[in-house]
Amino acid sequence: MEQSIPDLIYVQNSEGRPLMPTRRHNKVWYWLRTGRAHLVRRQPFTIQLHFATTNYTQKAVVGVDTGSQTVGIAAITNGEVICQAEVHLRTDIKEKLDRRRQYRQNRRSGKTRYRPARFANRRRKAGWLSPSLRSKAQATIKAVRWITSLLPVHQVNVEVGSFDTQKMHQPEISGREYQQGQLEGYLLREYLLTKWKRQCSYCGARDVPLQIEHLTPKSRGGTDRASNLTISCAPCNLKKGKQTAEEFGFPQVQAQAKMPLKDAAHVSSMKTAVVTGLQEQFGYDQVSIMFGYETKYKRIQVLSLPKSHTNDAVAIACVIGAVVKPLAVVHQCHCIPRGNYQVYNGKHSEHKVWAPRKVKGWKLYEIVEAKGQIGYIGGRRVKGSFVLKDLLTEKPILEVTPGKLRRLARPVRGWIIHREEARASSPD
Ligand SMILES: [Zn+2]
Repeated sequence: MEQSIPDLIYVQNSEGRPLMPTRRHNKVWYWLRTGRAHLVRRQPFTIQLHFATTNYTQKAVVGVDTGSQTVGIAAITNGEVICQAEVHLRTDIKEKLDRRRQYRQNRRSGKTRYRPARFANRRRKAGWLSPSLRSKAQATIKAVRWITSLLPVHQVNVEVGSFDTQKMHQPEISGREYQQGQLEGYLLREYLLTKWKRQCSYCGARDVPLQIEHLTPKSRGGTDRASNLTISCAPCNLKKGKQTAEEFGFPQVQAQAKMPLKDAAHVSSMKTAVVTGLQEQFGYDQVSIMFGYETKYKRIQVLSLPKSHTNDAVAIACVIGAVVKPLAVVHQCHCIPRGNYQVYNGKHSEHKVWAPRKVKGWKLYEIVEAKGQIGYIGGRRVKGSFVLKDLLTEKPILEVTPGKLRRLARPVRGWIIHREEARASSPD
C-alpha cells in the first residue's frame, strides 16, 4: 500500500470558519500537543486553531452528483481535489412508513373507540415530496452544508439532467456534424438516448451497450444529423448493415426520427428540490446547474477516470479542459436513523421496547471491527451477543460478544463517516 502523500487535515480558524486544509501533520500534532489547537472531529480529521491567522483562503468549487441511493461530492481548488465523499442515502423510509400505516389501520378496525379515517382531508403544498424523496433531497443538501463546514466554498455545481434542452433546441435541422469524442458528440448521444428511451429502436433491448445508428447509412449518403440517427444494439446494427431502416422493416422508426424530441426538460422533482434548497442556503449566484453529457465528456475524455460517484462529482466540479487528479481517500457517509422510536414490539405489540440507547457502552450503527471484519452494529441481542452487519449490503455478517469489538466510528447527527480507499463502482 502506498502512503506517500499524507491525508489532508481540515482546519478552522478561531471563529470556526474553514481555512485551507493542510498536509503538515507534524505541525498539527505540535499545535494539538501545545494547546494551540483542538480537535473538532476525527472523521474527517478537523482541528480548530486557538490563535489568530491570516484568513487567506483559496475558493473551492463543490461538485454534487445527485443520485437515488448514493450521492457523490467533491471539492476542487486550484486544480487540486481537496475533498471527496460518498453519501449513502436512507432507503428504509418507505418501508417504515408503510409499516406504521399498517399498524394504524389495524388500530382503527380493532375493538377501540371510534377513530375517523383521516386520509383525505389534508392538502399537499406545492413542491411536496414524498417522505422518502424528501429525506434524500435533504441529505444531499446536508452533504453540501457539511463540506462548507470543512472548506471555504464559493460555488456549488449540481448536475440536474443528462443534457441541456436549450442547446438542443433544433437539433434535427441544425445540420451540425457531431464527432465522436467531442463535447457535442456527448450532447448528441444523450439527446438520442433520451429520445429513443435508452433502448434499441429495432428490438427494444435495454441495459445492453447501445450504439448510434444511421437510418440511411453513411455509405449511401446518410448525414450525421439527429433526424438520420437512432439508437440500436450491436447485433441489430450489424444485421441491418447497408439497408435503410425502411428496407430493414422499420418504416415507423424512420418516421419517428424526423420528429424532434418535445418536453425533454424533465428534471426529477427531487433534483428540483435539491437545487432550490441549495439556492436558498447558499444564494442564487453560488449554485450552478450542470448536465450529464458534460460530466461524462470531462470524466472520460479529459480526466480519463473510471465511473464512480466521486469521480463524477470531480468532473462536475472542474471546468471543461482542466485536468485534476482525484484523491486516494473517499469519505463514506452513511445516513442512519437518529433514534429508535418504536415503543412496542412483538406479534401483538405485547412487549415494551426495552433497549436503552447504549448497551454495555455501545450504540446501534457504530462502525466496529471484530475478528478482522468491519461492519456496523445492527442489533444487540437479549442473550448478550451483538450482530455485525455489512456496511453496503446491510446483511448480517457476524455475531460476537461486545468484548471483541473495536470502535472505528460513532454515529454523529444522523451520519456515520469512515474513510476508505477510492474504487470504481462499475465499468462504464
Ligand atoms: Zn436490437
